[in-house]
Amino acid sequence: MTAFPAGILRIALPVNLRRLFDYLPPKHLAEGKLSPGVRVRIPFGRGNREVIGVLISVEFSSDVPVDKLRPASEIIDSVPVFPDTILQLVKWMAGYYHHPIGDTLVQALPALLRQGYDLAKEVHEFWQPAAQLDTQAEQALDRARAPRQQEAWQIIKQHPTGISVEALKSMGFDRTLLKNLSQRGLIESTERAADFRLFHDHSPLLKASPFVLNQEQARALEAITCDQQFSTTLLHGVTGSGKTEVYLQAIAHTLAHGKQALVLIPEIGLTPQTMGRFQERFNVPVVVLHSGLTDRERLNGWLAAKRGEAGIVISTRSGIFTPLYAPGIIIVDEEHDLSYKQQDSVRYSARDLALYRGRLENIPVVLGTATPSLETLHNSNTHRYRYLHLQVRAGNAVPPKLMLVDTRRQPLQGGLTPDSLIAIRETLQQGQQVLIFLNRRGYAPTITCDNCGWLIECPNCDAHLTLHRTPLHLHCHHCDYQQGIPNHCPNCQSPELSPVGQGTERTEEVIEGLFAKGRNKVDVMRIDRDSMRKKHAFQEMVDKVHKGEPAILIGTQMLAKGHHFPAVTLVVIVNADAGFFSADFRGSEKTGQLILQVAGRAGREKIPGRVLIQTSNPEHPQLQTLVQQGYDRFAADLLHERQSIGLPPFSNIALISAESPNAQPVEEFLNHSAQAAQGIIEANNFGGPEGVILIGPMPAPMEKRQGRLRWQLLLQAKNRKPLHNLLSCLLPFMEQNPLARKLRWSVDIDPQDMS
Ligand code: ADP
Ligand code: ZN
Ligand code: ZN
Repeated sequence: MTAFPAGILRIALPVNLRRLFDYLPPKHLAEGKLSPGVRVRIPFGRGNREVIGVLISVEFSSDVPVDKLRPASEIIDSVPVFPDTILQLVKWMAGYYHHPIGDTLVQALPALLRQGYDLAKEVHEFWQPAAQLDTQAEQALDRARAPRQQEAWQIIKQHPTGISVEALKSMGFDRTLLKNLSQRGLIESTERAADFRLFHDHSPLLKASPFVLNQEQARALEAITCDQQFSTTLLHGVTGSGKTEVYLQAIAHTLAHGKQALVLIPEIGLTPQTMGRFQERFNVPVVVLHSGLTDRERLNGWLAAKRGEAGIVISTRSGIFTPLYAPGIIIVDEEHDLSYKQQDSVRYSARDLALYRGRLENIPVVLGTATPSLETLHNSNTHRYRYLHLQVRAGNAVPPKLMLVDTRRQPLQGGLTPDSLIAIRETLQQGQQVLIFLNRRGYAPTITCDNCGWLIECPNCDAHLTLHRTPLHLHCHHCDYQQGIPNHCPNCQSPELSPVGQGTERTEEVIEGLFAKGRNKVDVMRIDRDSMRKKHAFQEMVDKVHKGEPAILIGTQMLAKGHHFPAVTLVVIVNADAGFFSADFRGSEKTGQLILQVAGRAGREKIPGRVLIQTSNPEHPQLQTLVQQGYDRFAADLLHERQSIGLPPFSNIALISAESPNAQPVEEFLNHSAQAAQGIIEANNFGGPEGVILIGPMPAPMEKRQGRLRWQLLLQAKNRKPLHNLLSCLLPFMEQNPLARKLRWSVDIDPQDMS
């Protein structure tokens, strides 16, 4: 070991190695620039290649001899891009998820910063009243009947020194509107280094007055806001019970204390509506971060949050890393949603990180949902979380009525039974809207040979090809493989091939035939990933639905979440119960949640809603419990079952997966790993009743996907500690196995998807 009085930089690099790298400081280093969390540009490998890393610490000794250490090229930041709490959060995450720290850190940064963008160069576009302001132009605007322009002008007028384009955008004013005002000679723009208004300088904080809360909501708000310290609350409220209203008022409270709010939501599809509700309520800038943004927009949002310009940040999963100037509260809406779990690279759960972050920043964390995940419910049952229940729907709405419809021995049209069709017709006649939920896009799940029963499969996956009508082709939903329709069966040469089962396109076709013809024709809208590909398709659909005319919406789970369609009073669920028979131990839990989420779309306003659940297993006990006794009983039964067989949340699991075009190296690699794991368990006493058990190696439920053979090794343990200790010993060993370089492998802590 050599001592370095000037200090050495211990740096995390975005490479897939579980270690840090030592460098000397750059040759011309100004004083005082070395806080952990700054980005550093360094030479790496041979030639002139440079990479960007993050400084983790300054050390005074290294395992590497002095003449082998190279100097860093440049310290990029004068202020850490990672505030201390975010750096700690990411370090914890790398440890917990057993992922290399360097690769974990870069994922927490906006792309432009990852690429080395220099924040010192940051200049901003500001808009202010024109220097040569002409009173006639203002009078012309008064006459122009352009209310949005008027609004923007009134705001800009109050900012003689300018207001940033980001702030204006967060209030819903776009560039076209600003151009119009500038053409009228009213405003002009300047570019200058950030000089902005803190969110709490916006006064008043609220734009619209809040609802008067009902008793349950008031109690929830009181509990969440009673202290400004770390606490975890499960806000369990049936759909439409006014959880969002509670969030809004809790945020108002936080803002009034000069603190910011971070709100996580599951999906981009929800953003416009959620965003709208926040903008209508608050006067402070609201930033929305999601995957549809450009890198620049993302960076702007990140900066607005970090500098304290935005009062509220609404984001999907990766927003959990957004630094806040004055953190005040974290809200995770629809906490049970699977999209919070990243399914590749670092397989983190944003919900679980939210809890850790809340602890680090000492602020309250609220997990809201109508259908809590079993993990969260268990934590609440064991008093680790505060439990708040909203049992009645807010306003005047009453809960929808759930009914099972037996599909056996029924003539089906478009997958719908005669009873369902009657209910649809009645609903339309009463001038209301219907939602048909069918979680399969395409025309039919596959095609079959009528003569020999052959079913068409994907050449790359253990899966059938889905038949699509628009345009006509066969498509694999797992690997994107596409082909035309064969004209005869490859097995028996029979030309009699026909579609099997229902997809949204097929139901749409039948429903259009039944309801979109003649004098009383109604709008039939299909909402799935295919029909929503066009840019504004979703918004157009939402606008049309909000007109409230009789209509039928046919959609996949895109429709299930969060939307508020006031005129929908009937929901028909065509095939949701298949998940009760899934091989995944979470199948029933997820299916129950999905059914209730979809059901929650019905009757959200004055007219009560009805939900018809079509099933060929009406006597299925879990389905019966769900319909007759509701989610609480359903979830309690599932928890009981998990406990009796020792599955999460009553145990911890880690899934090691490997895949390659050939099965042999995959199996061998996992066999080596299992042997090594067994050795480590025995040597360290990690086994026993509370310890780790190995299950596998075994083929994954879908053994072949995208042309690769997939195997798994499952590690399960009652206590978390031996499991994590085992992984810490095992993973470096696996990394050194020469086979590791010939295949893809990963480790998933608390896996949600075991397929
Ligand atoms: P959730 O988020 O639980 O689904 P929302 O907050 O969206 O519920 O509330 C459902 C509907 O009830 C919304 O239209 C909302 O504006 C309205 N609402 C919520 N709280 C109240 C209240 N206290 N009084 C009247 N209407 C309310
Ligand atoms: Zn055949
Ligand atoms: Zn495929």
